[in-house]
Amino acid sequence: MNKKFAQVIIDNKSSSTDKPYTYLIDSDLVELVEEGMRVLVPFGLGNRVVKGIVIKIEENYFGSHKLKKIIDVIDDKPLISKDLIDLSIWMSEKYLSPYIDAFKAVLPPGDFKEVKTNILLEEVHDDIYNTLDTLEKSVVTIIHNNKGKIELGELKEQMNNRLTNKIIRQLESKGILTTSMEIQTSIEPKYEKYVYLKNRFNSREELNQKIGKRSYKQLEIAEFLFDKGEIPLKELMMEVNSSISTIKSMEKKGLIQIVNREIFRSPIKEDISPYKKHELTLEQRNCFDTIMDHINRNQSSKFLIHGVTGSGKTEIYLQLVEEMINKGKESIVLVPEISLTPQTVQRFVGRFGDRVAVLHSKLSYGERFDQWRKIREGKVKIAVGARSAVFAPFSNLGLIVIDEEHESTYKSSMNPKYDTLQVAEKRCDQFGSTLVIASATPSVESYYRSIKGEYKLLNLKKRIMNRELPFVKIIDMREELNSGNKSIFSKELYEAIEENLKDNKQTILFLNRRGHSTFVSCRQCGYVVKCNKCSISMTYHLKENRLKCHYCGLAISPPNICPVCKSKYIKYFGIGTEKVEEFTKRLFPNAVVKRMDLDTTSKKGSYESILNNMKEEKIDILIGTQMVAKGLDFKNVTLVGIIAADTSLNLPDFRSPERTFQLITQVAGRAGRGDFEGKVIVQTYNPEHYSIQLAQEYNYLAFYNKEVLIRKEFNYPPFTNIISIIIYGEDVKRVIIKSKEFYKILINNLKQINLIDFVDNIIGPFPAPLERIKNNYRYQIIIKCKNEYLDKLKTAIEWVFIYNRYKVDVTGIKFNIDINPNSIL
Ligand code: ADP
Ligand code: ZN
Ligand code: ZN
Repeated sequence: MNKKFAQVIIDNKSSSTDKPYTYLIDSDLVELVEEGMRVLVPFGLGNRVVKGIVIKIEENYFGSHKLKKIIDVIDDKPLISKDLIDLSIWMSEKYLSPYIDAFKAVLPPGDFKEVKTNILLEEVHDDIYNTLDTLEKSVVTIIHNNKGKIELGELKEQMNNRLTNKIIRQLESKGILTTSMEIQTSIEPKYEKYVYLKNRFNSREELNQKIGKRSYKQLEIAEFLFDKGEIPLKELMMEVNSSISTIKSMEKKGLIQIVNREIFRSPIKEDISPYKKHELTLEQRNCFDTIMDHINRNQSSKFLIHGVTGSGKTEIYLQLVEEMINKGKESIVLVPEISLTPQTVQRFVGRFGDRVAVLHSKLSYGERFDQWRKIREGKVKIAVGARSAVFAPFSNLGLIVIDEEHESTYKSSMNPKYDTLQVAEKRCDQFGSTLVIASATPSVESYYRSIKGEYKLLNLKKRIMNRELPFVKIIDMREELNSGNKSIFSKELYEAIEENLKDNKQTILFLNRRGHSTFVSCRQCGYVVKCNKCSISMTYHLKENRLKCHYCGLAISPPNICPVCKSKYIKYFGIGTEKVEEFTKRLFPNAVVKRMDLDTTSKKGSYESILNNMKEEKIDILIGTQMVAKGLDFKNVTLVGIIAADTSLNLPDFRSPERTFQLITQVAGRAGRGDFEGKVIVQTYNPEHYSIQLAQEYNYLAFYNKEVLIRKEFNYPPFTNIISIIIYGEDVKRVIIKSKEFYKILINNLKQINLIDFVDNIIGPFPAPLERIKNNYRYQIIIKCKNEYLDKLKTAIEWVFIYNRYKVDVTGIKFNIDINPNSIL
């Protein structure tokens, strides 16, 4: 008998059912079930019928359980391809992620259980129809009677025949049917009314005759349509200044036709002008040629481009992508969410038009599904997007580019807690495709790997047109204070802004904190207002007159008297972007000052509008957080001020020096990109710190050499892996007891498996640096472990924490396990 066995993942919140279940595929379904398709299976004691996804099909089953049978197959084509299935399984093992979460990363956006397949009937001529067998004929008839389109489930119901999927496939291969996927979302397809002339007229004269010169308004409309063809009703009414009744009466007369057309949900604005191809500079060409050379010799390779800001990295990506298109291959271009600016999108869409899909977090589910489908169905060749675009379901992937590879947003902090670089490497290995990662300030880990030869290092040392990198001046704010300047601007920065305004040049001011004041404290007793769910200090926002928690979003009114000692001397300290804005406006009343941070860009379109105003030079001074630091290319910006370089330096995290170096270099890179020289002023209380000094000199290599030594000495990545286990819950006592209990069990387990001596370090359990977030108390265990022993250690962690094999009562306790997290806060 022809039977097979399927491993099926079921979407079920419970972690105890998060594993593949084996089902029997009976002979009548064997030909129809494929890996990546959804199936209906009986599940649990009551044999509830649920939807699952087949991740593996096997010829044999050696277990002893009596297997349940797959009831039916839902899809006629796999939702996801084999390589993405393998990728998910790999992720769930690598990052200790639940299967279902790993699969959701690669499945279509939204609830995969809601994906529907529509079957569309092409025209069938009688002579072909007559060659069909009875079952085929009845499928065709049903769809025909349903206006040429039917949903697969409904068709199967009407056919009431197990062979339906097979018949559909036969008809598809004969070109009689086509299928397309759709997802049910809360957002309904959008329709708009369109108008066109019902009859074809060969000339205006013909038109005039038909309508008659006396109905001049109708004639005007008709002539307009004659010239324009089909146009949206709204537009027509506006253009010819006509009422709806005139148009309706023309419809009644049969002169025109009004129809509903579906508006394709597209995140790309239509009015993007072409972005012309640049002749590569010598440096760009060398870099491009080296990569192409490897590709043409069919060597799958990995490259790290270390290119200063403004060295034209994007042009290299664009031309590599073009080569891929010529070879019939697809490309994924990843950029950090924050620099997924209209500028980046414009460059790709401007050059490749509708062959580009854009994926980012501001898209609605409907929009995201449409983009996903376009990629899956091969309608586009390029996917540009943030982190998750690495899963773009292309079938012939040739190239992945990761721009600003050092960015922390490439590491996911939610399950699956993947590192985009590693996932990209894996996908490139699957397809034999090329990986290009690039940055002006590569992460210590990536640069280390390039020195070890895992990535081929390519350098771009010059800016385009040999523009100079801006001069960086460091200002010691302690001296400013000593000389009596209590303002947030040093004398030098103030004067530079003034001069820039006189010269009609633009200025960017950067501060890594939004809000007005970073904390509110009592001068009498030292009390600081903290979020009562997160125990971190709250930030004052002037405009709303509220204190906000930047972790959980809680907002409260600021107190007038100290809740502890009742004194009135409760004051605002520390500065945020909002305060810088207020200050700047006061000091430069004639300048146009705008602020760009999370608070001013939450409304749709506001971000674009600030950028456009900046581009059109309608803004003199732009103040902002990280949002202004990345990827922006404004020609008229000649001055960049960093208000306080210390905000990122003082965090208790081993990456702080690296982040500070990166931030200064990136922010500085926004200046002097046009024909005028740029200048950068960095204000700090730590002027002698190596991150700041070496950023001033643009000396990446010296920074890397120093940093890598420190990492080695104190045993941090890339020399080890850091595993963070956070044990959290609302009851602090329980959290403490359970952390200790789990710690002991883990140690015992590591002893048992003889791993304890090979793990570098186990620290904890101690309160996490962010001790309380959203009402949960957090205790942390940190383990350092070399690559060789990582897999064994992960198995132990899985055993102890995830499967809870020691059967600890874990009511009210949760774990957050992260392998090489971004920050250990
Ligand atoms: P990066 O990403 O390395 O910071 P960009 O890709 O933004 O640099 O390039 C900086 C500017 O130089 C852009 O305005 C871009 O259009 C322009 N540019 C890139 N390559 C060339 C070239 N070969 N010739 C002239 N201009 C170029
Ligand atoms: Zn007080
Ligand atoms: Zn909070």
